[in-house]
Amino acid sequence: MTTRIELRNVEKRYGAYDVIRGIDLEVKPGAFTVFVGPSGCGKSTLLRMIAGLETISNGDLLIDDQKMNDVAASKRGIAMVFQSYALYPHMNVYKNLAFGLETAGYAKREVDRRVRAAAETLQITDYLQRKPKALSGGQRQRVAIGRSIVRDPKIFLFDEPLSNLDAELRVQMRVEISKMHERLGNTMIYVTHDQVEAMTMADQIVVLRGGKVMQVGSPLELYNAPANEFVAGFIGSPKMNFLPVRIGDDGGVLCAGRRLEMGRQLTGAPGAAVTLGIRPEHITLGGGGEPLAEGRVDLVEHLGGSTVLHVRPRVGEGVLSVVLPGQQPCHTGDVVPLHVDPARCHFFDREGITLRS
Ligand code: ADP
Ligand code: MG
Repeated sequence: MTTRIELRNVEKRYGAYDVIRGIDLEVKPGAFTVFVGPSGCGKSTLLRMIAGLETISNGDLLIDDQKMNDVAASKRGIAMVFQSYALYPHMNVYKNLAFGLETAGYAKREVDRRVRAAAETLQITDYLQRKPKALSGGQRQRVAIGRSIVRDPKIFLFDEPLSNLDAELRVQMRVEISKMHERLGNTMIYVTHDQVEAMTMADQIVVLRGGKVMQVGSPLELYNAPANEFVAGFIGSPKMNFLPVRIGDDGGVLCAGRRLEMGRQLTGAPGAAVTLGIRPEHITLGGGGEPLAEGRVDLVEHLGGSTVLHVRPRVGEGVLSVVLPGQQPCHTGDVVPLHVDPARCHFFDREGITLRS
């Protein structure tokens, strides 16, 4: 049995300050859901309300269809893992894992069974006798996660648990946590400001901004069909390029007065200003696609597996990033034709909402 979480018009107010502004959300049972958004958008607040560490100002929280607003944190069947994990320095790993269960009055055998099972899941069995100071950052974070596993919760909540780790370890721990989710199959919610972390780990991503949900979807749904300019710019790296264009008389697209063959008609008033969005990996230097503009290469980044160009187009202002596969013989100052695949172009209205044709 996996657990279903539902939020109905959930709000959080601190005095006159609205932090969470009406969130409706279904967290799929057994799925790995990631809340992602810029710092300060309300991710931790939302997670803490689900955990019961923060009151809900308005709306309902349901866990398996039971209203949970006023149920104590300890009675919700939830375990939470934070960025800063405080292990007991004088206890070895075994004791760190066992301690909570022992104080809760579990029999010694049951404690031992759970500690060993958690250690196995997290591959820390070899370190059970070590003190925290003899562990690496990643091993310590695994012990901290282990302390939530031994409690056998219905739901796991993670609040930026990997932010303190260096880049290489973060990548490794992402994989570990994903594997742990596969093995345990519990409903898990993971908070991060890092869209790469969200894309690599999530079954379901919830993009938040200013206390509101911008979009919910799988990683590829968000990448392929962002609901608005914010999600389009937030998901994907390097960021999507944005160019000002206009809707032509026939619903076509005018870029600096020239008509682009987009093979579609935009809904909206002729002459209306809209934004064209194109990802760096969907621009080519000629050869297929629709010519967008010529541009001058400002900067070349040779990454080995790919080449990133910063190109200043002749029309308009700003710089477009272009990601080309492999190693390209490009130099600063080169003038290049920029082509786009019409099927990969996104259009946003003045409010930043995606235009469908
Ligand atoms: P995130 O985790 O996405 O970075 P938080 O949920 O921590 O964001 O915070 C969201 C907003 O709520 C921030 O602007 C923060 O300053 C504000 N906030 C958080 N806790 C409190 C509090 N106890 N009192 C007043 N404002 C708070
Ligand atoms: Mg936070």
